[in-house]
Amino acid sequence: MSGETMRAWAVAAPGPVEEDPLRLVERPVPVPADDELLVRVRACGVCRTDLHVTEGDLPVRRPGVTPGHEVVGEVAGLGRGVSGFAPGDRVGVAWLRRTDGTCAYCARGAENLCPASRYTGWDADGGYAEYTTVPAAFAHRLPGEVDDVALAPLLCAGIIGFRALRRTSLPRGGRLGLYGFGGSAHLCAQVALAEGATVHVMTRGAAARALALELGAASAQGAHDPPPEPLDGAIMFAPAGDLVPVALRALDRGGVLSVAGIHLSDIPPLHYESDLFYEKELRSVTSNTREDARDFLAVAARHGVRATTHTYPLSRAPEALRDLKAGRFDGAAVLVNDLS
Ligand SMILES: [Zn+2]
Ligand SMILES: [Zn+2]
Repeated sequence: MSGETMRAWAVAAPGPVEEDPLRLVERPVPVPADDELLVRVRACGVCRTDLHVTEGDLPVRRPGVTPGHEVVGEVAGLGRGVSGFAPGDRVGVAWLRRTDGTCAYCARGAENLCPASRYTGWDADGGYAEYTTVPAAFAHRLPGEVDDVALAPLLCAGIIGFRALRRTSLPRGGRLGLYGFGGSAHLCAQVALAEGATVHVMTRGAAARALALELGAASAQGAHDPPPEPLDGAIMFAPAGDLVPVALRALDRGGVLSVAGIHLSDIPPLHYESDLFYEKELRSVTSNTREDARDFLAVAARHGVRATTHTYPLSRAPEALRDLKAGRFDGAAVLVNDLS
């Protein structure tokens, strides 16, 4: 591959997606480091974090970065130190790209908290391109029978939703509330339902509410509306801090609200008695471990979890981000590589 070039989307200067901060650039095909794989991108999911990277809600960690961390691709090259993969293998590239493996958090199995962690599509170039790279130890093997497009959203939206669900410590057969119903929530709902939970969805979009009911949710209502029964657990998928007190008030005694997103607008002042007393808990969710990813991919395969997808050619990535921001589709957007 050395000396060849590819096309990739780069965040020229972060700003509102309506002002075209993404540029299609010609770059050398990346050379994998000794412990990395070179991956030819086949499909790449569009995550809300890509929007945060592109618009500058997250600080710039690599100028001109290529977003995208839900990559389904095939191995196109191997670093000198890599074994266990072969050219043509189908692999997934997700958000967590690297940890140090040596700190106290890594040592206790909480590598998602590693201060040295690095992320695909933020610290390193991701999947909005013809090729990307991934450390082999962080590449995910993918089940053979599911197609690329259906798999891509599982790699971040799915994994994070799964971790957020586990962070609610939902009791068996518990009542779960989902605030917001996009890519991550609709996958999380499928896992929760398959595990016997009753699911209530609170979201503003009529199409998203319809999808929720179609997937088996017991109820679907507006984002600020109370669910029809108290909740044992809730997950905040909407990046809207003003919904946090709303969701806390919907919890039953001992209920847990986990916040799935990496970015949340400010939370208004909480009222201790109505929002937190009776041992309600508010928990954040920070990235995921590789174990979360493996567990989720196994659970998803077992229960036949499928993403509802809306595809765009990779050459029209900015349009996908604009549509995501405007809430113009339900389920998850996936870019399909039409550049190579
Ligand atoms: Zn660490
Ligand atoms: Zn993501």
